[in-house]
Amino acid sequence: MFATGGNRGIGLASARAFTELGDRVAVTCHSSEPPQTLTDAGCLAIRCDITDPNHVESAYQQIEERHGPVEVLVANAGITWDTLLTRMSEEDLSTVLDTNLTAVYRTVQRAAHGMLRAGKGRIVLVSSVVALQGAAGQANYAAAKAALIGLVRELGSRNITCNVIAPGLVDTGMTDALSAGRRTALLSQIPLARSAHPDETAAAIRFLASDQASYITGAIIPVDGGSGLGR
Ligand code: NDP
Repeated sequence: MFATGGNRGIGLASARAFTELGDRVAVTCHSSEPPQTLTDAGCLAIRCDITDPNHVESAYQQIEERHGPVEVLVANAGITWDTLLTRMSEEDLSTVLDTNLTAVYRTVQRAAHGMLRAGKGRIVLVSSVVALQGAAGQANYAAAKAALIGLVRELGSRNITCNVIAPGLVDTGMTDALSAGRRTALLSQIPLARSAHPDETAAAIRFLASDQASYITGAIIPVDGGSGLGR
């Protein structure tokens, strides 16, 4: 399994979940290293900025040398860059699209080459509930995350499943920055009345990569405590 952004948050939880299964796991890290416990457990950690095509190619080459072709890709790394649409610059838009869409396309395309040769593969893209309902101040993020849904519909005929998960509010570095007021407002919209632990998101990812999910592809799986009301 290869997860982008596996040094913290949902990516780290996913890396741990697959490591516990005994899988060969590789992650990218960008600004900080993953915890020592993960690398001690055999996880390959690769410095990689996914917005740089050379970094991504180099990451795949290192993984293939150590682990062989990638069988499961979790395209997880992402950023937010929030500002109201009326104040959003083209750079605010392109920065988010570069990381959350173009880099995902790049990562998926590279993985797909090996999966097509192998005649099988599993791809999970980490989108967001915001892709389906939008959010004030997140038009750039919502647009990028919604576009991921369009990326997943092509590879099924080649025995490669590709699914999208749409998490709601997950307790990670990304949501640590929320103000108390915003957090309370978001929680009030969640039927389960709480945020998610990253492990709960990782569990859905692990399921989609498992044999039990062999007939699921092109799906958008909400992992949002009900906040998207099944959308
Ligand atoms: P974190 O901010 O904790 O983690 C983001 C990860 O993305 C980090 O590992 C970070 O690496 C990596 N990353 C960012 N930019 C780059 C880059 N250019 N190159 C390589 N890696 C990069 O957030 P989450 O764990 O919450 O987010 C994971 C995914 O889940 C994201 O796609 C996010 O949009 C999505 N999501 C999160 C939700 C939430 O409530 N937390 C809700 C819905 C979706 P580094 O630390 O090294 O910079």
